[in-house]
Amino acid sequence: MATLTAELKKKTKKVPVRGMMNNVMKQFNSAADQINLHPSIRKILSITNNEIIVNFPVKMDNGEVEIFRGYRVQHNNALGPYKGGLRYHSTVDIDAARALAMWMTWKTSLAGLPYGGGKGGIQLDPSKYSQGELERITRRFTFALADNIGPEHDIPAPDVNTNDQTMAWMADTYMSMRPPAERTANQHVVTGKPAGSGGLEGRDRATGFGVFLAIKFWAEKNNKNLKRKKFIVQGFGNVGYWAAHFLEDEGAKLVAVQDAFGSIENQKGIVVDDLFNYTKSNKGSIIDFPDAKSLKKEDFFATECDICIPAALGNQITADNATQIKATIVAEGANGPTNVEGEKILLERGITIIPDILCNSGGVVGSYYEWLQNRNGELWQLDEVMAKLEKKLRESFNKVYDYSLKKVVDMRTAAYCIAIQRIERAYVERGIFP
Ligand code: NAD
Repeated sequence: MATLTAELKKKTKKVPVRGMMNNVMKQFNSAADQINLHPSIRKILSITNNEIIVNFPVKMDNGEVEIFRGYRVQHNNALGPYKGGLRYHSTVDIDAARALAMWMTWKTSLAGLPYGGGKGGIQLDPSKYSQGELERITRRFTFALADNIGPEHDIPAPDVNTNDQTMAWMADTYMSMRPPAERTANQHVVTGKPAGSGGLEGRDRATGFGVFLAIKFWAEKNNKNLKRKKFIVQGFGNVGYWAAHFLEDEGAKLVAVQDAFGSIENQKGIVVDDLFNYTKSNKGSIIDFPDAKSLKKEDFFATECDICIPAALGNQITADNATQIKATIVAEGANGPTNVEGEKILLERGITIIPDILCNSGGVVGSYYEWLQNRNGELWQLDEVMAKLEKKLRESFNKVYDYSLKKVVDMRTAAYCIAIQRIERAYVERGIFP
């Protein structure tokens, strides 16, 4: 027991996240002031409904037992079941989970989905564990969370360092814990599963496709063409890769990339799929890619470009680097990549920000389609999914863009106002129990 306690202390040591919660609350309060949000509803939305912390043991490959700490924060479910990703990263803690859960509430509301917001994960560095260990960690985490998640209650999805394989293990574990007759009816307990296991064709690219579309819609509104426009991407994972892939298809040019391991630049252009294939044979890393020079980490955001896509972690664009950004548009693929101080500088400099809750909402819309597909026992084709996604994301974009013009506010404020008003309406119509 003494070893377990020491191990637990080691694993749960606080990792600073530089105030993600502070950021999301400032954004919320500013929008709440703008719409004169009902004070009782401001109180309700300022706190999270439920915060679940689970500590669980997992046997490692060497036979020893490690204790992990997992989180699931359920912010609000006024519009439907909690929905949001699970992240495996050293920065996961209660503050990050709360902030990310709140962002999910705004995102699902803005997208017009019948969901609330949740988020969670495990504080760990997955590169330190074997595939077998990650599977056992995921299954045991699912077992620990099982009474608090469910297809009509709280529906996790992939996020940083989790993927369709993680979701397949989660779904299988959850379903195995149900009586046989209920197993398949619970398949939609998670979304983002592999296509062969109840996943949606196209869910893999849905978020990146949405980021690309948001940029394209913005360009259309401003009579701009994306051909030969230069873009940089921070994070070359699921979101960053697919956003780059679709932008390149449209004629834009990837000129710099940063991931957890380093940064690279080539002003003549980096071929997206060449880089993607290279990372597959380089342990997921972009470093030493032969067709680009390496770049200092701190110089990345200062790279010459037209479009900047932060698609990695939160709090990346701050007062320290916002003055250096050359792009005229920042499309937020990640959740919370720009902090309030960084945003102020960007807006003062006339740089447009397509806010995360709009820009990366293709993922949760795709997840909604997967949930519907499972719930109704259907199988949707890729072209059908992509067309539905585009239509839905265009509606969301237009809503936010038009509101921002009408009320003369930036797009983040517009997106927040629309999202919060929809939840406010639900509370006003239903009242507060009892
Ligand atoms: P991922 O794990 O597939 O990729 C993350 C990428 O970020 C990797 O290339 C990694 O090397 C890089 N990275 C990690 N730490 C970094 C650092 N300190 N500096 C630079 N790069 C770093 O994750 P993902 O699913 O692509 O998610 C990326 C972001 O998009 C997250 O903020 C996530 O919350 C958000 N998001 C994801 C989805 C989705 O469907 N996957 C949906 C909406 C939003």
